[in-house]
Amino acid sequence: MAVSDLINLSGLLDDAKCFALVRQHRWPEGARCPVCDSGAVIRDGHDDTQFYRQRYRCKTCAGRFDDLTGTVLAGHHQPLRVWVLCLYFMGLNLSNWQIAGELGLDGSDVQTMTEQLRRGLVAKAPEVTLKGEVEVDEVYVVAGHKGQPAAVAKRGGSDAVASWQARRAEARWRRTSHRSSA
Ligand SMILES: [Zn+2]
Repeated sequence: MAVSDLINLSGLLDDAKCFALVRQHRWPEGARCPVCDSGAVIRDGHDDTQFYRQRYRCKTCAGRFDDLTGTVLAGHHQPLRVWVLCLYFMGLNLSNWQIAGELGLDGSDVQTMTEQLRRGLVAKAPEVTLKGEVEVDEVYVVAGHKGQPAAVAKRGGSDAVASWQARRAEARWRRTSHRSSA
């Protein structure tokens, strides 16, 4: 096994426990149908590619679903353990850029993930995803988090303009360096 495999943090996480974590968050009193909210559901095998992703069938409406159906965690190309690690790093107050570095992911991908995770680990997926907003959000994060909006709001006049220009330059630099390293 290569050293790079050994230091890949997400590879050390147990998939079974990650899915158990999601189930515990989502259904603390047992699985419920996301369509009709019935508790009369039976286990119905496992996902074809993710063995620990439990599938269910609703006895009331005959609907089929699994551990991630209807959540922001469904339909993403990142494995669940990457989401769980991302959540853990958020708890340590790491920035999106630090998380991206730790997970070896694109900064704008992590930005999207952390925004979704702030709504909750298993919050419902939004109906429409606007991919074009990623670039705008990226500048906002630098201006907001790094610039400390409360402190910025207290300052005024040329000082505020100067710090805005500095943040703009920083944002531009980050986008450029982030792209070249991707
Ligand atoms: Zn149902």
